[in-house]
Amino acid sequence: MSSAFLQVSAKRQRELVANYNTVLEQVQSLAKKHSNVPVRLVAVSKLKPSGDIMALYNAGVRHFGENYVQELIGKSKELPKDIKWHFIGGMQSGKAKDLAKGVESLFAVETIDALKKCKQLDNTRSRLDGAPIEVYLQINTSEEDQKSGYSLSNLTELYETIDYILSDECKKLKLGGLMTIGSFAESHTDGEENEDFSKLVNLKKIVDEKYKLNLQLSMGMSSDFEQAIKQGSTSVRVGTSIFGARPPRI
Ligand SMILES: *Cc1c(COP(=O)(O)O)cnc(C)c1O
Repeated sequence: MSSAFLQVSAKRQRELVANYNTVLEQVQSLAKKHSNVPVRLVAVSKLKPSGDIMALYNAGVRHFGENYVQELIGKSKELPKDIKWHFIGGMQSGKAKDLAKGVESLFAVETIDALKKCKQLDNTRSRLDGAPIEVYLQINTSEEDQKSGYSLSNLTELYETIDYILSDECKKLKLGGLMTIGSFAESHTDGEENEDFSKLVNLKKIVDEKYKLNLQLSMGMSSDFEQAIKQGSTSVRVGTSIFGARPPRI
């Protein structure tokens, strides 16, 4: 792992590590104050170069989040195999196969929004006898058309998906928890409860009760992770506050 393209300047290295540590300290102190469980910080590296990831990896960071299947496959091939990749992007049909096959060290898929995609992920991973993957079921709490996720107004398919993951038929998936993005408006109401996060918390209670589980909650990004932790998030996905603004996708 000494290729030149995986290296960044000493200045960039210091900047990334300092940003990461600042966010981590905030996450840890909020977690200590508001919940009894540790909160995971996933560094969202989409559209950022592998050198940036390597700089944080060298400082001990292992959980990284990516949004685009081909970008993730490429990065996972050139970066260390013990990175725990989280796929957090929109997953078009058919892409589940590419992910399960192309990313050996895929740790989690946080954007499952259909039973069919879940089955594709498990079937492909089983066929290759790959490592298990943790899955999060994405909920469209804000009910915006442009957002993916299971609908809150009809939980039938969500329950079918959970039944499948918990069944013997499903070999390579572990149910991690529930995930939401939340609306822009809700993430910019300072100091107040974020209603999208509240909806996810309520759903967790219902599902935990029904299946006797204790699901994780993946909610909170740069603009709203503090509020998310106050409301019970156990995994936050932070990009901009660590890596800086992203270039446009080309
Ligand atoms: C890009 C992205 C993030 C990180 O967003 P920032 O605002 O840069 O922290 C988190 N979650 C999802 C699903 C994303 O697509």
